[in-house]
Formats: sequence, structure tokens, C-alpha cells
Amino acid sequence: MQKVHYPRVTVDLKKLRNNIEQMVKRAGEKGIEVAGVIKGCTGLPLCAKEFAEGGCAYIASSRLEQIRDAKEAGIKTPMMLIRVPMLSEVDEAVELTEYSLNSEIEVLKALDRAAGRQGKVHKVILMVDLGDLREGFWEDEELMEAALMVENDLQNLELAGVGTNLGCYGSVAATPEKLSELVDKAEMIEAEIGRKLDIISGGATSSIPRILEDNMPERINMLRLGEGIILAKDLKDLYGYDMSYMYQDAFTLEAEVIEVKVKASHPIGEIMFDAFGKKQEYEDIGMRKKALLAIGKVDYAFPDDIFPRDEGVRILGASSDHTILDIEEAKRDIKVGDIMQFDLCYATIVYVTNSANVDIVYV
Ligand SMILES: *Cc1c(COP(=O)(O)O)cnc(C)c1O
Repeated sequence: MQKVHYPRVTVDLKKLRNNIEQMVKRAGEKGIEVAGVIKGCTGLPLCAKEFAEGGCAYIASSRLEQIRDAKEAGIKTPMMLIRVPMLSEVDEAVELTEYSLNSEIEVLKALDRAAGRQGKVHKVILMVDLGDLREGFWEDEELMEAALMVENDLQNLELAGVGTNLGCYGSVAATPEKLSELVDKAEMIEAEIGRKLDIISGGATSSIPRILEDNMPERINMLRLGEGIILAKDLKDLYGYDMSYMYQDAFTLEAEVIEVKVKASHPIGEIMFDAFGKKQEYEDIGMRKKALLAIGKVDYAFPDDIFPRDEGVRILGASSDHTILDIEEAKRDIKVGDIMQFDLCYATIVYVTNSANVDIVYV
């Protein structure tokens, strides 16, 4: 007898593969290579394999552990570290990846020394901060200094290109104008080094609209894509694009019902703080049929970011290990022992695939 353990997340690899191939194809038609960003599903090696086999030119993650796992799973696609390397990880970065994104001269020098020790040439993409205020060179002067240093002095590094990141911290849109600024920076560097750069990496999922609207600046030739492949939920729900060729349900969270009772909707007693020390508001809508699930914030962090597939079910709240549902208007008769399914978003996919308590099942 197969032992089934809940909660669990089921990953439909065929749906994931469809999403990867659809996006790789659409990008390819515009001359854009895809770095498949696997951190959104915690770098699960079976998912990473789909990214590689689905046509991504690079496998990318912010976490070297995930890249190590991908390599150990036999993936031969060039690897890219997309968080600027910690000084403490430059040796591993050179060992495990062919490419890294960079924004500090000191780190570039350390990468060069690490590559020298390992007898390798490591390729770097210099990040430019165009106003989103996360990583990247801010001053043109420093960007140019770094570019010239990599090009002329750091013999174990190769200047592969430039990149930017938008819409992560500062919520800045990847407009054609913004991305043209990146091309301008690339051409500024090219004028000084006297050759073309191979890569102009125009951002993440927030740059996919430029592909869909066919207004990507000419020379942008690479995007680093996670959410827009794994889920494409933001493109559909936030940006309003028709994403009907992408599955939003490649990942399914399943949890088991451990209690079903009719209870009050407003707590009875003096209202103090919840399990996380927060003051909460409770609406009084009378007696309601409720269900309790054996899963909680420890597993998915954000109760508002898991979405019941059962019609008429509402998530009321959660503590560490419990989720409380209003099932008064549920379309089906929910009983103790039932399994309930939930859609996820980017954040909750990251959490559930990271939780030691949640099994991962592939279909
Ligand atoms: C996470 C990340 C990406 C991918 O972001 P998505 O929005 O999931 O496509 C791309 N580039 C960098 C630098 C990242 O950290």
C-alpha cells in the first residue's frame, strides 16, 4: 500500500513543460534567449530538468545550493547565479556556474582570483540599476570602470554583457524607454571596449509584456524568467494579458480536513492578540459551518495567497499549523478526512516547496 502524506504539493511536470516551451518559443521569435529561473520552485531538480529540456539557454537561480542540485541531477545547460555573489561564495560560484550577475568591483576581483585558482574563465554580466533600487551600478562612471577592468585587467573573467532588474523592489515598469536606457549603457561600454557585448539581459517576468506587445528594444537578447513561466499569474491577473496558453495550475496544494463544525463567526471573549502577536478584526456574520485544515502559516506563510479550488469556500485565517475555512456556502459536502485543493501564487509556491512538512509529488 502506498502511503500518502498530507499536506502535499503536486507538480504537473507536463503543464510546467508546456509553460516553459510556450515562453521560450515566444521569446525566441523576438531573438530573445531565456534564462530559466528555478528559484520560484525552490530549484526542485525535476522542475529544473524541464526548464533545461524545454529550451532555456541558461538555468538560473539566486541560490547556489539549487544550482548544485541541478548539476547533480545531470543538467548540462550553462548555469547562472542571478543574485550578486557574496564574497564568501565566490569559489563556489565559479565552481558551479558559468555566469554571474555583478555590481561590485571588489566582488569582480574576488571572482577573478577564484577563477584563476580553478583554472577557469568565468563570465560576468554587469547589472545596471535603472531606478528600481535593488542591485546594480548606479553611476555610469563606476559601471564603466568595472567594465574596463573586467575587459582589460581581470584575465580570468569575461565581460559577457549587461543586465538590469525592474519591478522587484521599486515596482518600476519595464517600458520600452526603460529598456532602451539599458541598451544605451551597453553601447556606451561597447564604444569604449571596441567590441559588441554578447548579452543584454532585459529583466525578468515584468519584461514579458515587451515580447507580448512586440515592442522590445532591438538589442535586448535575453530575459531571466521565473514567475511568468511557472505560473504566468501576474501577467494574467495584474497586467490583464490573455495567458490562456499557459497553465496557472501546474502546482496544486493539498491539505486534509481535521474538523468540521458549526461555530460562531466572531470570537467569544475578550479579544487580545492572535498566534503571531497581531491585533485582528473579526466580522460577526452569525453561526457558520467551518472546516479546519492540517496546514498553516509555517507551510505557506500567507493565508490570503492560497486559493481554494472548491467553489463557495473562503479562507478565514490561519495559525502556525491550522487553516480555518468558512464552508457554509461550499458547493460540495466537506467532511473530516477530505482532501482540499488550492491554487498557489509565486510566494506560496516558494514556501510550500521549501517546507519540510509538505510532501512533493510529481504527476
Ligand atoms: C528572481 C529573479 C529573476 C526572475 O524573476 P521573475 O519575476 O520570477 O521572472 C530574474 N532576475 C533576477 C536578478 C532575479 O533575482
